[in-house]
Amino acid sequence: MTTEGKEQGVIAFLEGLVGKENVSTSIFEGIKQSLDPFPYHVKRENLPLAVVLPENKLHVSEILRYANIEKVPVFVRGSGTHLGGASRAHTKGIIINTARLTNFELMEDYGFFESGPGVRVADAADTLDERGWFLPLFPGSRVIASMGGIISNNTSGHIIDAAIGKPADYVLGVEVVLPTGEIIESGTKGLRKPAGTDLTKMFVGGDGIMGVITMIRMRLVSMAKQSYGIAIYRDLKAIARAVKRMYLEKAPAPLFVEFMDHNVSTIAFQIKEMEPPPGPVLFFMAIGQDKEEADKKTAKVIEVFKKEDPVIAHQITDLEMWTKLWAAREVIGPYLIQKMHGQSTAAEVVSNLANLEEAMDETARFNEGIPYLEDLTNYMFGHIGALTMHPSFVMPSEWDDVRMQEIIKNKFKREAELNLKYGTCGGEWGQFSKRTGFFIQRYGETAYDLIKKMKAVFDPNNILNPGVLEGYR
Ligand SMILES: Cc1cc2nc3c(=O)[nH]c(=O)nc-3n(C[C@H](O)[C@H](O)[C@H](O)COP(=O)(O)OP(=O)(O)OC[C@H]3O[C@@H](n4cnc5c(N)ncnc54)[C@H](O)[C@@H]3O)c2cc1C
Repeated sequence: MTTEGKEQGVIAFLEGLVGKENVSTSIFEGIKQSLDPFPYHVKRENLPLAVVLPENKLHVSEILRYANIEKVPVFVRGSGTHLGGASRAHTKGIIINTARLTNFELMEDYGFFESGPGVRVADAADTLDERGWFLPLFPGSRVIASMGGIISNNTSGHIIDAAIGKPADYVLGVEVVLPTGEIIESGTKGLRKPAGTDLTKMFVGGDGIMGVITMIRMRLVSMAKQSYGIAIYRDLKAIARAVKRMYLEKAPAPLFVEFMDHNVSTIAFQIKEMEPPPGPVLFFMAIGQDKEEADKKTAKVIEVFKKEDPVIAHQITDLEMWTKLWAAREVIGPYLIQKMHGQSTAAEVVSNLANLEEAMDETARFNEGIPYLEDLTNYMFGHIGALTMHPSFVMPSEWDDVRMQEIIKNKFKREAELNLKYGTCGGEWGQFSKRTGFFIQRYGETAYDLIKKMKAVFDPNNILNPGVLEGYR
């Protein structure tokens, strides 16, 4: 059969399975479903054969069974917001978009909820919130990011690991369609996660390479009472010392501990019409069973933060003030992009605790020596309670694709150098795609080969998300 004949066969199969209205072969849809946050275009030759919207797990199963027999690449797409390149298809194939897999069941009797992968994180959070439950996922992208994308990454975004753990700690089980089309369920309907071997772990934080998650079962978490605090210092190193002290002096880790460098905090405060701060800002949210417990934790954290000579350090009792501060932090990225008519890129530098002060200093100089990036301002902020720093840059939109690609490559290289130096790894954007090189340097060829072998067991024809593990090298 000719290539064209085979492509027509794929499209006819998909249309027969889910209906013509749920299959698109439009070039515009192809571009939309291939783009991700990277600041360069998709290549024409990589545009998908078709974008398909399955309605249920059986559709997903039939698509994968067919693709496995016909050896057609399949890319799974939630919202395409992955910051490491995993949602950008690098070759022609089928894109399964999970947007119609939005079943959501709150099963309070059992103490869990079940969510389809296409449910938006913010929608899941709102539904739970109405009943007094808290979704322990808080990425900056939650308004658009899908539950499937987040769980495949095992990322909780801004939430501090030391406070309440990672998403995987709450996932009781998943339903998954394997690349060969078989459907499996893992885990439990009880509130005790399995001891020993549990296949859930292959998929939660599995970078989407072993199977397509079609249902996520997560334990319900009650909404805690909150209390807030702020500390403003003269320089970033003092912020690093304060956070280190928080851990060493056994202050309870707050749910969120964010920082903004002086430049970012000045802009952020301006956006919300607040007095400009005298230096970089550290702010946090502590939680407790009741308000008293939350306030007590805040007081302890403030007490520790005060030991690093802040200009200001106090509890925030005015909810409006906290809301402004939090909102200012949340909008800083989009605000800078809009104001400067540019394209943004950020890195994820994670320090170890011992060297946080040095890492903060080095991250502030992240772009030194990187062509083009070194001429731009480093806007630094991040989840410093998780020892995570995001040096961020806004690039002029008129820079061409070649330059943009070079910058992204060098950015990941510098990120890798720093995370290698501190013996850490990204805690938010997955382990492969643009980070595959880092993975090999960090954990070695033997570890990488093991993952390749495991993938081959699940996906003998390498049809599911090919290129993610290979890192497009
Ligand atoms: C403005 C902005 C802010 C962000 N803030 C944060 C942040 O604070 N913290 C953070 O960690 N990340 C953040 N991100 C990154 C991003 O939102 C996350 O990586 C998120 O997990 C991706 O979700 P998604 O639905 O867009 O997934 P996609 O990008 O569509 O997919 C990501 C990967 O998961 C796979 N996948 C998706 N669904 C499934 C499924 N059902 N089964 C198997 N594999 C699947 C895909 O194939 C792909 O490999 C941000 C991104 C943006 C653009």
